[in-house]
Amino acid sequence: MIELSGKTVYKGVVTGPVAVLQKKDSTVKRYSINDSQRELQRLKKGCEEAKRQLGGLYEQAVKEVGQSSAAIFEVHQMMLEDDDYLDAVRSIIETEKVNAEYAVALTGDNFAEMFAGMDDEYMQARAADVKDISNRLVDCLGGGAGETFFAEEPVIIVADDLSPGETVQMDKSKILAFVTVHGSVNSHTAILARTMNIPALIGVPLDLENVENGSMAVVNGFSGKFILNPSKECLQDAEKLAQEWKHQEQLLETLKGQESVTRSGKKINVYANIGSVSDVAYALENDAEGIGLFRSEFLYLGRTDFPGEEEQLQAYRQVAQMMAGKKVIIRTLDIGADKQADYFGLEKEENPAMGYRAIRICLKQPEIFRTQLRALLRAAVYGNISIMYPMIISVDEIEQIREIVSQAAEELKGEGVPYCIPEQGIMIETPAAALISEELASLADFFSIGTNDLTQYTLAIDRQNEKLDTFYDPHHRAVLRMIEMVSENAHKYGKWVGICGELGADLSLTKEFIRMGIDELSVSPRMILKVRKAVRETD
Ligand code: PEP
Ligand code: MG
Repeated sequence: MIELSGKTVYKGVVTGPVAVLQKKDSTVKRYSINDSQRELQRLKKGCEEAKRQLGGLYEQAVKEVGQSSAAIFEVHQMMLEDDDYLDAVRSIIETEKVNAEYAVALTGDNFAEMFAGMDDEYMQARAADVKDISNRLVDCLGGGAGETFFAEEPVIIVADDLSPGETVQMDKSKILAFVTVHGSVNSHTAILARTMNIPALIGVPLDLENVENGSMAVVNGFSGKFILNPSKECLQDAEKLAQEWKHQEQLLETLKGQESVTRSGKKINVYANIGSVSDVAYALENDAEGIGLFRSEFLYLGRTDFPGEEEQLQAYRQVAQMMAGKKVIIRTLDIGADKQADYFGLEKEENPAMGYRAIRICLKQPEIFRTQLRALLRAAVYGNISIMYPMIISVDEIEQIREIVSQAAEELKGEGVPYCIPEQGIMIETPAAALISEELASLADFFSIGTNDLTQYTLAIDRQNEKLDTFYDPHHRAVLRMIEMVSENAHKYGKWVGICGELGADLSLTKEFIRMGIDELSVSPRMILKVRKAVRETD
């Protein structure tokens, strides 16, 4: 029996046989060529085939895991059009007079090494993407085996690392769990695993050479443990746990259609956090009572230009209509820091989390803000939309926002375009906003506490830095006191207050939040029923 620890990507307990996903021999042969034009032509054809395959994978992923998670395949298609990448490959073919497969593999390694060496954790995770597209391209050029995973019975997939391409091609009904030696919790594979509700562990220090296909194993996403060849007792215990877990999941189903009220009758609104229109399906599937945070900036990511007013109107209107009268809180653009789009032309900053981002960009570049506000005011005609502003630190900002909203409304009125000015709240995610929440409460229609950033700024701990994970403590008294203070100040002015940061889904705090007077908890869709259960068990 071997017991190893890793990092949990998605919780759950399963037992079953392992299937080791051995990567094929990745050594690509190098040989000299005479006709580099012919090789460049092969490269072009290979790229076309790889893009065609990625298009197919995108369609498949949209159906299985939704548009936002599938977007990675569009990004891979774009990477195959990237001039820096392609110029590097072409230059190796022409100067070294070598075959295209070798040039692609070498470029892939060089780019991956460059990404892996960057400070930014997000960019480090892109090393896997560039490797993935290079491997695909080598396959398309005929230099690889084009391996896909098939299993007869459900298995625990064990691998060195998994690329999004490999993950999405697998038959989901045959996967019990993912366990990888490498990978990051921010990787797209991790995001796909979460969206697919498959227990997953990463960073498990396994020696894959010594793992036999078909060996029994236990994956415990609660304790982060992977146990290979478990003893009889250990296996029995795990099977019991797995059954309990499944049973709990089934019990949760019975909460669908029930109200989120405490035993003493206080109603808590349990809403969903979403990042795209397609995520509404997950919200509805989990019986969300509304959308508490639509991170609208995702509409701006992974593209080459700003989304226009009509495009945004369609997205907001669709969400409002799909939620059929339930509240939909759309947060205005929170770009910057870890969420970057090249076409904004933002300068590189020393401290991007404390830099030019979110509402600061909107107020400095009101033309960007106005387009979004016009789309929001127009969409508000079609449903129960509220607008929420991120990263607020002052009364002055709210006054400026109100001014721009009035101008946008005036414009629409002048043009005879139907619009409506909806409820407007602010996020409390800076210590400044928490400390002056009494003043802000008289101006905002509601507060939504962004505990992810509130923790980061209160404790002076970069939320992106995995080395600081042990210090990042959203249960810190300073954070909890601020939440309580914000709640009191909101209620003094008759305003409602919610939590939309990850802490809202922390079941060990549900009771405490209700005691503090929190009116709404907005959580990822798969946590909705769990939070509802915790609310209903609170006295
Ligand atoms: C937060 O900061 O808690 C929040 C909800 O916003 P985001 O995680 O998008 O920064
Ligand atoms: Mg935030």
